[in-house]
Amino acid sequence: MQAIPILAYHSIADSDNARYAQWCVTPHRFHQHMSVLKQWNYRVFTVSQLVDWLVMGKPMPSRCVAISFDDGLQDFQDNAVPILSAFDYPATLYVVAGLIGKSSRWLAPLGEGNRPILNASELRALSATGIEIGGHSMTHPELDVLDRRTAFAEIRNCKHVLEDVLGEDVRSFAYPHGYASDTTRQLAEDAGYGSAVRVRHALSAAGENAFGLSRLVMTESLGKAELFSLLTGHGVPVAPPQNSLRSSLWRITRRLRALRGQPRPVCEVTAS
Ligand SMILES: [Zn+2]
Repeated sequence: MQAIPILAYHSIADSDNARYAQWCVTPHRFHQHMSVLKQWNYRVFTVSQLVDWLVMGKPMPSRCVAISFDDGLQDFQDNAVPILSAFDYPATLYVVAGLIGKSSRWLAPLGEGNRPILNASELRALSATGIEIGGHSMTHPELDVLDRRTAFAEIRNCKHVLEDVLGEDVRSFAYPHGYASDTTRQLAEDAGYGSAVRVRHALSAAGENAFGLSRLVMTESLGKAELFSLLTGHGVPVAPPQNSLRSSLWRITRRLRALRGQPRPVCEVTAS
């Protein structure tokens, strides 16, 4: 089974907020990561390009990778795009469609509710340069603890809003917080997406469910040697076939908290 790394970034920026720092990679470190891909002759695709390849059923070229960014933050344009352009690499940017041109209000509990989100004209300009724009819900909720109708509205309306902005099909979706269930995977498919990514800190692979693609979480502490180890599958599983007992128990806990109206953690991607 051929393993395909899909890298998952959030903010490309410095951070002095300890509660949010795990979601930030500095431009310097991001440049190092891209240089590892160049050094080892990785071919970089968007997520939908990878999925197209898988759907065709053809063997992938060796050393393929996709680079993805969640949330649609302004710092993607300011800090990541110049580096991606220097390496001539495409990427997939997953945008919270209900907050276009606004701010990251779902991060308020972490003290980061005012991070700017890219506006419509900026998203159109990025799309014109080959950046794939994907959906990341309307408001960044934990979809797997919402009722089915509300979850579907978050997923489908996100696609419609982005397609209105871009004037083109939006083909890929990223589950907020990485949380997905059998129901949310089906809803993403029903909404008309061609693929959806989660965060399992695993390599994706041909044969993996296109609506539950695994990604590798990129962090500031990940050096060049450690990244190359991950890309080549050392220390990470390939497309784990089902949820671990730990992540299943975590989902049950969050659902119970949601039903009781109790506050829930903002981010827990490693338990997706
Ligand atoms: Zn997100």
